[in-house]
Amino acid sequence: MPMKSSHKDALRDIVGADHFTDAQEECLCYAYDATRAQYLPEAVVFPGTTQEVADVLRLADTHRIPVVPRGAGSGFSGGALPVAGGLVMAMNRFNRIRSIDTDNLVAEVEPAVVTAHLQAAVEKKGLFYPPDPASYTFSTIGGNIAENSGGMRAVKYGVTRDYVRGLEVVLPSGEVIHTGSACAKDVVGYDLTTLFVGSEGTLGVVTLATLRLLPLPEAKQTLTAAFGSMAAAARTVSDVIGRGIVPTTLEFLDAPSLQAVERYAPVGLPAEAQAFLLIEVDGDADCIAGPMERVRRVCTENGALQIRLAREKDEQEELWRARRAVSPALRSISPYKMNEDIVVPRSRIPEIIDSIQKTARRYDLPIVSFGHAGDGNIHVNVMGGTRGEADVPKMERAVDDIFQATVKLGGRISGEHGIGLAKQPYIGLNLDAPTLALSRQLKRTLDPHNILNPGKIFPQETDSASSF
Ligand SMILES: Cc1cc2nc3c(=O)[nH]c(=O)nc-3n(C[C@H](O)[C@H](O)[C@H](O)COP(=O)(O)OP(=O)(O)OC[C@H]3O[C@@H](n4cnc5c(N)ncnc54)[C@H](O)[C@@H]3O)c2cc1C
Repeated sequence: MPMKSSHKDALRDIVGADHFTDAQEECLCYAYDATRAQYLPEAVVFPGTTQEVADVLRLADTHRIPVVPRGAGSGFSGGALPVAGGLVMAMNRFNRIRSIDTDNLVAEVEPAVVTAHLQAAVEKKGLFYPPDPASYTFSTIGGNIAENSGGMRAVKYGVTRDYVRGLEVVLPSGEVIHTGSACAKDVVGYDLTTLFVGSEGTLGVVTLATLRLLPLPEAKQTLTAAFGSMAAAARTVSDVIGRGIVPTTLEFLDAPSLQAVERYAPVGLPAEAQAFLLIEVDGDADCIAGPMERVRRVCTENGALQIRLAREKDEQEELWRARRAVSPALRSISPYKMNEDIVVPRSRIPEIIDSIQKTARRYDLPIVSFGHAGDGNIHVNVMGGTRGEADVPKMERAVDDIFQATVKLGGRISGEHGIGLAKQPYIGLNLDAPTLALSRQLKRTLDPHNILNPGKIFPQETDSASSF
């Protein structure tokens, strides 16, 4: 049901007329995310306080108006899309770092703070906030928490969940709760903080986060190695980890990624290169040379065709160029792209890569894989072939096969992008019926009228805001 004008008036009263819009051209800016799908909201509110968030949600709950919280809209699974219409709650005004506590290594941060801004602010004080999704220069802490985002440094430092100590959350009823604390240890009651991390904006709106920080590592070194086969690169990954070296990042690019990069922005790889590893080690300045030398030795033993080592920042940036060029380079293959982020136990990487390559041949489609070899999280891009849009059904079948193969190897259909809208038909591949039923029950308990981000995670919620 469309929102009534009386509801819009009530929303203007709560947030102020300047912080509400139902102008179509403005709503359009909040209709998309990185999936490129579009759903137009009926209005957008920009609350400025926790009380305003609570009042908006109470009103929405009373009148059964769908509400979708939104950070930067960079999500890859459709989480911020208002699929059931209603309201987008843009958190832009919650953009302050409230405190950085150097004694207790915690920061109090509002959800619209951009990840890179938090990182820069804590680094000025000699501290470190490790989660680093590749979108860190524009994605927000609220979005990172809602998606439990990972990144390149997850191999050594873990993901967003590992840095959230406590949360202020507004429930769909408008009630405000506080989970966790700034303390390093805390076992008071259930671990509700973890419940909200990764809940994809479906259980509550995060209005404040207490985040754990680390001391800033003194130094880092970066190495790249090109290999003549994916098997040699995969063996190198296992050997590096097997010898007790924990790199900060361990990224890989497969042969189609390398070809795309060389066409788009040549980085001078040997012509016979079929796989590429980018490995970074960080820590105390006098302690990192040893592990890096061991990494170099492992690469040589596995027959690396080319090894480059960078100690200085500029040289390191140069080595990162190939990794960063992959995403834009993919557009030169085809505008049609299905971007999945499967994860398998690290030791199964060679098998899943083999299976992906067979899928590419079976459907005669370009499939490009790259990503976080160190934690088994692979970005698989199923690209359109020569028939353009007509290839889409074939691409969907290829994605289906890749998910099936992932699950057979003990993997999960998403390592960091979430289920959202894009992967909900597949959730049953990973969650059995009782686990799904309990998850649904949790959603119903916290959001009995299904007003908060309806149509996400669970397939049957897609039709309308009120149908469960
Ligand atoms: C180029 C590119 C690279 C990327 N690289 C990575 C990567 O390396 N690793 C990775 O994990 N992801 C990556 N992503 C995906 C995306 O950036 C992350 O999921 C990010 O955390 C989303 O943040 P956002 O602020 O854009 O959130 P949005 O897209 O606005 O929202 C994402 C979800 O969070 C919810 N949400 C937002 N704010 C709140 C809040 N305050 N309270 C409750 N729910 C909220 C929304 O409802 C939605 O469900 C990438 C995306 C792009 C475009």
